[in-house]
Amino acid sequence: MEGWERRKARLFFALWPDAAVRGRIAAQRPAVGRSVAEENLHLTLLFLGSVDVEQSRRLREAAATVIVPPFELRLVRLDYWSRSRVAWLGLDEAPPALLSLHRQLKAAAQKVGLALESRRYRPHVTLARDAATIAPRPIDPIHWTVTDFCLAESVLRPEGSQYLVRQRWPLRTEVGPAVGGAGATVE
Ligand code: ATP
Ligand code: MG
Repeated sequence: MEGWERRKARLFFALWPDAAVRGRIAAQRPAVGRSVAEENLHLTLLFLGSVDVEQSRRLREAAATVIVPPFELRLVRLDYWSRSRVAWLGLDEAPPALLSLHRQLKAAAQKVGLALESRRYRPHVTLARDAATIAPRPIDPIHWTVTDFCLAESVLRPEGSQYLVRQRWPLRTEVGPAVGGAGATVE
């Protein structure tokens, strides 16, 4: 077992862009508030909060059984939530595969007894926090081909939250042999 699997952790399921897409997302960060560090940019699938060792083990087991085909996301606009003071990138539409992924992970989290928020799922990529108001505007669409999802840990550091991708699972259309298995642990 890896070290992180042996203790309680603050976890969330997410889509993590590859370096190229991440760079294009980073280039859209507005000059307001606290910018999200480039390596931290992601799209949250499901925020789990504090998860104990046994819940984490069962969640990862469930994640390995998720069957969702790879899909395309198109990030098309910069937008702003005034209540949370967050600047974010939004999608033209949420593909059914994305919603299915969210639902399957949510069901797994409920099954292990995690108390989840009832707020509606609004897929977005946070770009800046404590941000002053910005006017929504379209951006040159960023095409993001999603072929896997991950479990990430949020670690509080003096300089702010750092996110560590702990495990990845490939998206797939059916139960496969090796690739569909327990998921790859990230070194
Ligand atoms: P901090 O809370 O220290 O300002 P943060 O919000 O970046 O930093 P976390 O709170 O650990 O870090 O959140 C990890 C990820 O989960 C982020 O994408 C965050 O937006 C998302 N998240 C956090 N809390 C919730 C929540 N209650 N509901 C949905 N998503 C959440
Ligand atoms: Mg937070």
